[in-house]
Amino acid sequence: MSSLLHPETLAASAGVAADDGFNAVSPPLHLSANYFWLDPTEKPQYDYARSGNPTRAHLEEALAALEGAEKGVVTASGMAALDLTLNLVNPGDLVLAPHDCYGGTHRLLSARARRGHFNLAFVNQTDPAALAAAFARKPKLALIETPSNPLLRVTDIAAVVKYAGEVGAVTVADNTFLSPALQRPIDFGCDVVVHSTTKFINGHSDVVGGAVLAKDKALGEALAWWANCTGVTGAPFDSFLTLRGLRTLYPRLQRQQETALEIVEALAADGRVARVFYPGLQNHPGHEIAVRQQAGFGSMFSIEFAQEIDVLELLRRLRVFTIAESLGGFESLVCVPAAMTHAAITPEARAIAGISDRLVRFSVGLEHAGDLTADIFEALNNAGSVGEQTVTRVRQAVGA
Ligand code: PLP
Repeated sequence: MSSLLHPETLAASAGVAADDGFNAVSPPLHLSANYFWLDPTEKPQYDYARSGNPTRAHLEEALAALEGAEKGVVTASGMAALDLTLNLVNPGDLVLAPHDCYGGTHRLLSARARRGHFNLAFVNQTDPAALAAAFARKPKLALIETPSNPLLRVTDIAAVVKYAGEVGAVTVADNTFLSPALQRPIDFGCDVVVHSTTKFINGHSDVVGGAVLAKDKALGEALAWWANCTGVTGAPFDSFLTLRGLRTLYPRLQRQQETALEIVEALAADGRVARVFYPGLQNHPGHEIAVRQQAGFGSMFSIEFAQEIDVLELLRRLRVFTIAESLGGFESLVCVPAAMTHAAITPEARAIAGISDRLVRFSVGLEHAGDLTADIFEALNNAGSVGEQTVTRVRQAVGA
């Protein structure tokens, strides 16, 4: 389909009216594991669903078009997508990764490095001196996660790409937090974009999936070869649902980020809030870079409440936000990263990354902004101070 079309049109029309079997308008779900040959000498377009599947192909083509990539591979999860890119390095090669990346990514990279699959350096990529020092070690692969999970640190993609170009490193950007609707790392020179499609791209919290999108066809083919070889490709039904979710990605994110900004502005003005982490705020250290490389600020933010606030009690009192891991769905979620999404990282590594035990992460969904804001303020008003909570707990314990 023409790359001149707007992305909303690409998302809405991917695979529509492509069925030449029965003229189905909506792309059909092909569950078959295998495909018949008309003749033993004529290999069909698809022969075995691990290697290729028409339903998955619609999603791969749509995601590649939206990210400005030449080739896409849909995987069984975001972790499978990240792991797939690690096939691009050899033992002895250095991989650079953000020190405050998603906990599962931190765990995967650390475990593989311990096994000797590659050498690993975690670096604060928002610190220019640290970045320069890290690239002086001539890495072969640099992983970017911007904005980062959970502190929403913004890395200058073009700066990392420039350093990588000087040493011949492959750049891989995890674009899960924004999706192609709000950021296209390939436009800034990245070689590969990775997604947990579980999040905004599917957006309905009913599929775990991932994707790898490559700027160059040859690199994309190499990744597709590894995906088939290791068997990490996504299932047809998951692809079908994810394509259905993708249709509404653009309007969903637009609405979700407007709501997030409204809540963030209300919270930032409250004395019981110590720090707000949201790149849309002008005082966020990455705000200017975000303006340059993002088409919006997204619907994720994190908060450090003042010392006197009992954050666990605050979470317990929320009625519209649901306490859960994951993010990017239609439903608003809240979590304490240190105990949940980033529990796989050691307390020492969390401290280095700046992820405190009191940090609370919010993912804003499609509910009414007024209901979400009221939910947080009511919980904040009723959570009271740590002292009052102790009294409440004692009262509850004695049944008063
Ligand atoms: N990358 C980021 C930034 C994430 O937040 C997550 C999951 O939360 C992943 C990757 C892993 O994705 P999945 O859970 O689909 O394997």
